[in-house]
Amino acid sequence: METMNEPNKSWHSQERLKILERAVQSARNGIVITDPKLPDNPIVYANPAFSELTGYSQAEIVGHNCRFLQGADCNQSEIAEVRSAIAEGRSLMTILRNYRKDGTLFWNELSIAPVHDDEGTVINFIGVQNDITARKESDRRVSEFYSMVSHELRTPLSSVRASLGLIDEGSAGDIPSGAKRLVTIALQNAERLLKLVDDILDFKKMETGNLDLNTAIVEPDIIVTSVLSSLSQLAANADIQVIKQINTRKSLCADSDRILQVLINLIANAIKFSPRGSRITVAVKDVGKSMHFAVTDEGPGIAEKDKEKLFLKFHQLDSSDTRPKPGSGLGLAISKTIVELHGGTIGVDSAVGNGSTFWFILPLVPKS
Ligand code: ADP
Repeated sequence: METMNEPNKSWHSQERLKILERAVQSARNGIVITDPKLPDNPIVYANPAFSELTGYSQAEIVGHNCRFLQGADCNQSEIAEVRSAIAEGRSLMTILRNYRKDGTLFWNELSIAPVHDDEGTVINFIGVQNDITARKESDRRVSEFYSMVSHELRTPLSSVRASLGLIDEGSAGDIPSGAKRLVTIALQNAERLLKLVDDILDFKKMETGNLDLNTAIVEPDIIVTSVLSSLSQLAANADIQVIKQINTRKSLCADSDRILQVLINLIANAIKFSPRGSRITVAVKDVGKSMHFAVTDEGPGIAEKDKEKLFLKFHQLDSSDTRPKPGSGLGLAISKTIVELHGGTIGVDSAVGNGSTFWFILPLVPKS
């Protein structure tokens, strides 16, 4: 097969040039070639898509430096990056705020690369521009949506849950037993909904790399005790006994709220998938410079082929031996991210029919 690098007789250099030129002329990305050997690195070629994108005519483009696209918005740190990449003769990909001839903004995903001659000297730069304004706009809408979920959904929902909690525990006075039963159901569902909203918000933070840790010295016993107390009702309702085994006197440096969240996920899953009357053990021990946490249940277990998939986003198993359960399928993915942000590892030991042990290991001091 003929390639650009292996011309044969039918591939004359004239033809080749013509094809290359036509390809660049037809490209849907704005393409410019500049000449850094001339004063101010002017554009020496721009394809029609570049004119279309920017609204400038060929005469207004050729012979000028690309900076006419910046308008007055010239204090972008990305512009300084482009400048140094050109000065150092290297390639770069960045996103700039640029302006069309009519003054309207467009987000320019710009990729520049040096073009070398046979001696390796930089003779030109090629710049490929991609208008990502629509993508930016949709990112902004998605961000607004998450902020709406956070404020307009989560805030009133927390207040509903808190009020139901107060009524349920009797702080608002005695209520008839029939009403109490309904309040308890409403409370459990408000909690489920809140957990789902929190998972969605954490998922968004995870995707954008904004899930930050707030580390401090934490005592495993205190965390486990607090988790067990918050899940005691859930365990009692499922008729499951939860046993705590703390075999460490050491503390560790971690984000206690996030570790609490991981343990709640693992123990709540264990409760969800275990048969009534069974036991769950929550064990912690220190080994060398790390802390090992393990949640062992007597549930259906997990097949070898499914183990890896469990920790993927939005993944729930649908094998015949696990009944459909409520949940977002995000809990383990979020837990994995939290553990890995601490420099730790998470996994599961399990065999079908023999229960599961979900474990995670954290360094006593997280790696920075
Ligand atoms: P969800 O919020 O849906 O429970 P997770 O990411 O926490 O999502 O869990 C993903 C899936 O892993 C669950 O839907 C279930 O199929 C499986 N799973 C998790 N924990 C256990 C367990 N202890 N025993 C059996 N299956 C489990």
